[in-house]
Amino acid sequence: MPNSPAVDTQVAVVGGGPVGMLLARELALLGVRVTVLEKLSAPTGESKAGTLHARTAQTLHRRGLLKAVQPGPPAPPVGRGPVPFHFSGMFDLDLSTVVTEGPVMVGSPQAWAQEVFAADAERLGARIRRDRELVGLDEEADAVRLTVRDSRGVTDTLRASWVVGADGARSAVRRLTGIPFTGTPARVGALIGEVRLLDPARVPQGWQRNPRGWTLVWLNLFGRSRVCTYDFRGPHPDRQAPVTLDEFRAEVERIAGHPVPMDSPSWLTRFSDAALQAEHYRVGRVLLAGDAAHVHFPAGGQGVNLGLQDAVNLGWKLAAEVHGWAPPGLLDTYETERAPVAEAVLENVRAQVALMDPDPRMDSLRTLFARMMHFDDVNQYLGGMISGVDVRYDTGGPGDPLAGRFAPDVLLKTGDSVTSLAEHLHDARPLLLLLTDSEELLEVVEPWRFRVDVVTATAVEQIGTDALLVRPDGYIAWSALGEAGDADALAGALGCWFGDPA
Ligand SMILES: Cc1cc2nc3c(=O)[nH]c(=O)nc-3n(C[C@H](O)[C@H](O)[C@H](O)COP(=O)(O)OP(=O)(O)OC[C@H]3O[C@@H](n4cnc5c(N)ncnc54)[C@H](O)[C@@H]3O)c2cc1C
Repeated sequence: MPNSPAVDTQVAVVGGGPVGMLLARELALLGVRVTVLEKLSAPTGESKAGTLHARTAQTLHRRGLLKAVQPGPPAPPVGRGPVPFHFSGMFDLDLSTVVTEGPVMVGSPQAWAQEVFAADAERLGARIRRDRELVGLDEEADAVRLTVRDSRGVTDTLRASWVVGADGARSAVRRLTGIPFTGTPARVGALIGEVRLLDPARVPQGWQRNPRGWTLVWLNLFGRSRVCTYDFRGPHPDRQAPVTLDEFRAEVERIAGHPVPMDSPSWLTRFSDAALQAEHYRVGRVLLAGDAAHVHFPAGGQGVNLGLQDAVNLGWKLAAEVHGWAPPGLLDTYETERAPVAEAVLENVRAQVALMDPDPRMDSLRTLFARMMHFDDVNQYLGGMISGVDVRYDTGGPGDPLAGRFAPDVLLKTGDSVTSLAEHLHDARPLLLLLTDSEELLEVVEPWRFRVDVVTATAVEQIGTDALLVRPDGYIAWSALGEAGDADALAGALGCWFGDPA
């Protein structure tokens, strides 16, 4: 689709949170002129999420970003013993038996990761415009006209060929495009904040459930501690009302059942368990990603992970569209692939919230569920969901057992050097990996060589196939395993995912 010459930018990303900044980086990496429009004049530095799960870590590793998103020492790879994690507040999962590559979890405050992505996006040529709140959106025949307003009330317009709303749960892009946001309404009223706890001995430790609700405390003896409360009696009447220290203290004390002295609040806010998803991820030239497309209760720390994987799924497809080589329907696979993943997360979070109910009649069910989490199959199933390693797309390769799976980070020997598959994906280009000399497959890929990298190497470990066609997001488009493993099927997959040959 040709771009109008009169546009100011090829893609406008509305919202410079972690998802918008990573998407901007992906697009800039692929040579797209991208502009981020961010409402705030400076980042807040606040991090709701502090952890990345395995599939996000593996994905960032394929861009060479994994170390940079960790402000502390890099997380160790899997294989250093159990990694307990919770489902519904029961810490009976062991993620170390579920994850097979890289660290099981990574400490990465979202504000830190966001700035890493932003700095790199700018280095690659993205324009980041802060103090620009989107207030109007009009779709034209070949572009979208955006109206933005700054904090002085001055408005400006900008034309973009494509717009991505990465502007969070209350997305203006979603609202202005009229995309319904549907699902299940709130029934829990939750508060979160950081406060100085004045009598650590009187603080409910860790995650506590009692018939009055939940308290969650991440104790910091040297500064502010993060404290959270869950009230299952119903949602807050006004979700937007500011939270005062008095309200926060009273709620902690009501649930704990005794005074919990605190002062010096920062970042007091309320949230709920509403689980909502956009009915469309794309309408014409407008797309949604991250919290703009899906929101849920933060049980299991899955929100930012979902959004970052949206960004990496969308980036190369939108870049292909902008550059005019996207095969028909490629961009629509963004929704068909990512919406079911978000839907599954919303479902597991609804289940977690139901199990968290403080009613003592739930106690036996929780005990039973906690015991079942020690069964290997249950651990694999739930751990696969939470860590994201169960994500597999329907890439339409019938008879190809590997198609749609995440390509393993296999070590590759080429001459004297050893690399790994992940390194060959740093530039977000499609990759044909040949683990055997095959003149036939080389001949097939030849007309796509300008768009698809080809690496011929010896795998240090067997991966069950002699050849893999890997998409820029790390998922397998075709393999030489199974009935569809021939040269014709490879040509079909190249055309299906990466457009016409030269
Ligand atoms: C209390 C709480 C705890 C959480 N804990 C976790 C956790 O432990 N793990 C986890 O994975 N997730 C957690 N989450 C969810 C996680 O924080 C979100 O999934 C994540 O922030 C989504 O990133 P985003 O970039 O899509 O949106 P956001 O981070 O919301 O960023 C959106 C950006 O858009 C900007 N913006 C908004 N409107 C406009 C506009 N009109 N014009 C221009 N810019 C605009 C905003 O200023 C913001 O910078 C938690 C959420 C909450 C509420």
